[in-house]
Amino acid sequence: MTDSAIDFEVGENQEMIAKMIQDFGSKEIKPFMMQWDESQEFPIPLFRKLGALGLMGVLVPHEYGGAGFGYQEYVTAISELSKIDGSIGLSMAAHNSLCTGHILQFANEEQKQKYLPKLATAEWIGAWGLTEPNTGSDAGNMRTVAVREGDYYLINGAKNFITHGRSGNVAVVIARTGNVGDSHGMTAFIIEKGTAGFSAGKKENKLGMRASETAELIFTDCRVHKSQVIGKEGEGFVQSLKVLDGGRISIAALSLGIAKGAFEAALKYSKERHQFNQPISAFQGISFKLAEMATKIEAASLLTYRAASLKDNGKNVSRESAMAKLFASEVAVEVANEGVQIFGGYGYTKDFPAEKYYRDAKLCTIGEGTSEIQKLVISRSILK
Ligand SMILES: Cc1cc2nc3c(=O)[nH]c(=O)nc-3n(C[C@H](O)[C@H](O)[C@H](O)COP(=O)(O)OP(=O)(O)OC[C@H]3O[C@@H](n4cnc5c(N)ncnc54)[C@H](O)[C@@H]3O)c2cc1C
Repeated sequence: MTDSAIDFEVGENQEMIAKMIQDFGSKEIKPFMMQWDESQEFPIPLFRKLGALGLMGVLVPHEYGGAGFGYQEYVTAISELSKIDGSIGLSMAAHNSLCTGHILQFANEEQKQKYLPKLATAEWIGAWGLTEPNTGSDAGNMRTVAVREGDYYLINGAKNFITHGRSGNVAVVIARTGNVGDSHGMTAFIIEKGTAGFSAGKKENKLGMRASETAELIFTDCRVHKSQVIGKEGEGFVQSLKVLDGGRISIAALSLGIAKGAFEAALKYSKERHQFNQPISAFQGISFKLAEMATKIEAASLLTYRAASLKDNGKNVSRESAMAKLFASEVAVEVANEGVQIFGGYGYTKDFPAEKYYRDAKLCTIGEGTSEIQKLVISRSILK
């Protein structure tokens, strides 16, 4: 295993970010979030406000208009937002880690100058398209093709389950430029909304994360200039795996926030709700649940901040980010489940927050690689 020190102190910036999000969330998110959830509204004006706070370009250096923070601050930002509303946390994570993150890590200077300032301020919303209807976990087997014709590529195919598939102003899209089965046969393109042959398809009607838009991208003879390729032809899939190493830390942070939110709501309720003439927290059956929830959250937090710290120190975090994502996402589901249980019948209604945490948490074991795929990444790493 990797030996490394980790700074367990919460930094000043993290405290400042947490406070800022708590204040912002109580005014701008909490009063509206159930309405967004019911109607599946993706609240674009809210994301512009998050952009003004620096939360849509957390990792983007100042020179490109971002906040210039590291992963530790990024984890704090996503988990604090997700403690309030997981779907806002998911959209923020996809915009920052996937679309913006891909451009930040692998684009050339001209592309960075053109796109990062718009993305970091949320003037533009970003999307990232890897998954296809028939290739999710097996993304390397994708069928969307990009065929070179002079200075252009002609792209045909479809991507599905894409966060901000409809509302995104720009998408980083991975398409096949070589043979099926060749991990160097795929290329990443930056494609702007409005490009001929590029359109959005079906918007998904989801169990949870309902204020985060998830939709299909369709490419029909979509002509993209070679200047929109990120890096070199053939590097797209390998770049994507590296983008996901960072992205998984953000899903671990999302999971952590949902678990904390579900726990805090259940803790408060357990002290207020009386049965048999005492608060339900006085029953050992309930207090032991709370003890287990708190312990799991602490462990998930340590794994997540450790992966973030290693990433900030320039280490390869494929294994550590997969471990953090696997553990934290399963913890989010378990804690949210116990949260509903502690609320009893009220937990099953929309009058209390427990049911939303429960619905939102499940995405965390699926998006950016399922729990089974995280085990594949971890086992390959420990067996090599
Ligand atoms: C809300 C939401 C937002 C998303 N946002 C994006 C986005 O912005 N961009 C993007 O590109 N994608 C996005 N995705 C797609 C997401 O990453 C995929 O759904 C995920 O990777 C799983 O792929 P799949 O749905 O095709 O499931 P499948 O790959 O079909 O998996 C089905 C089941 O089989 C299991 N399985 C598959 N292969 C193996 C194996 N080798 N060993 C053991 N078990 C296996 C899986 O773990 C799972 O349980 C999003 C998905 C959702 C639901």
